[in-house]
Amino acid sequence: MSDKTPRPQLAHLTAQLEDLRQRGTHFKLRVLDDEQAPVCTYDGKRVINLASNNYLGLCNHPKLREAAIAATKKYGVGSGAVRTIAGTMHIHMELEEKIAAFKGVEACVVFQSGFTANAGTVSSILGKEDFILSDELNHASIIDGARLSRAKIKVFRHKDIAHAEDLLKEIQHEPGRKLLITDGVFSMDGDIGPVDKLCDLADQYGAIMMVDDAHASGVLGRNGRGSVDHFHCTQRVDVQVGTLSKAIGALGGYVCGSRDLIDYLYHRARPFLFSTSHPPSVAATCIAAFDLLEIEPERIQRLWDNTNYFKQQLTAAGFDTGGRTTPASETPITPILIGDGRATMDFSRSLFQAGLMATGIAFPTVPEGKARIRTIMTSEHTREQIDQALEILITVARKMNILPA
Ligand code: PMP
Repeated sequence: MSDKTPRPQLAHLTAQLEDLRQRGTHFKLRVLDDEQAPVCTYDGKRVINLASNNYLGLCNHPKLREAAIAATKKYGVGSGAVRTIAGTMHIHMELEEKIAAFKGVEACVVFQSGFTANAGTVSSILGKEDFILSDELNHASIIDGARLSRAKIKVFRHKDIAHAEDLLKEIQHEPGRKLLITDGVFSMDGDIGPVDKLCDLADQYGAIMMVDDAHASGVLGRNGRGSVDHFHCTQRVDVQVGTLSKAIGALGGYVCGSRDLIDYLYHRARPFLFSTSHPPSVAATCIAAFDLLEIEPERIQRLWDNTNYFKQQLTAAGFDTGGRTTPASETPITPILIGDGRATMDFSRSLFQAGLMATGIAFPTVPEGKARIRTIMTSEHTREQIDQALEILITVARKMNILPA
């Protein structure tokens, strides 16, 4: 047997990959040759980039680079341990204090990613006697956290408050705790979660209220404080999650809330307890990013101006940008609905060849039959780049009969 011959033990994986190839949804990772920017080079091809979560252009901001370099020079490249053993540095504490102050809450804990922030929190604050009421389109990290908690999971129809209330009524006399949880911005459709209405339900039924603001942080609310701030619900949300990996431009996730919530997570959240803390450069970068949100709010304004212009032009060209068979986008995430998975992937590949990076998303990330090109606007795209992107989208869509010729 040569080294390359697959071992039979993993033959089921090979079969599944073949199945993806047959469906036309198997992909190869595109590799970025330079920096995450509105125009950049993937796999040697210069493209306008509509695919990253770099909402405010902070991934390569000079001040953030300098902060990372200075922290590396001062503290080295690694933290050396998990937070609870020997890996808590002053810069980690400073970042947590900065985020708590920014969000207007008592305390904050930083995790290695938004994924582990959600999964580690949901799984540790509830047990098997408890109930989780979760929007059907909530992020995978919430779903996984819910499963790990062993609590009873009840899924309400997307943003359907009446359905969430029906589910709460069914269990209101059960002794277990109830957690109501929603994304602040839904990552595939770009619509905003009904945080205020869910807070009303949580107050009425005594449920814990939790919001995942991964795509709302840096985008919604005062200076990008998120959806909870946008709805003036800071005092009514018990657990606010955010990410440092999107608008903040670096890597990580965080949970904000009361001092006791955070102290509890320090003691019980498994990704916090069992995984090494951030390198000091990442913490320093994030501190610089939060400072920038306060002193350069015009970035957020530019993001919204670009978003509104791009959406208007897409709709005028005849694209289905959601709102017919899927929720209507209200944020810089704008889907272009295609439906069929294979057609979507073909469209995305042709766009790339024509100079546009716009990722195709198919089942299982979105429901079967609702495949789409998912675009994300940033504050740093120029009007010329946006116009060029639109021209490519329209030309390729006409050629492929996605728009009438
Ligand atoms: N929540 C939502 C809604 C997300 O879209 C994401 C990122 N895909 C996450 C959480 C996870 O964040 P991170 O990339 O920091 O792990």
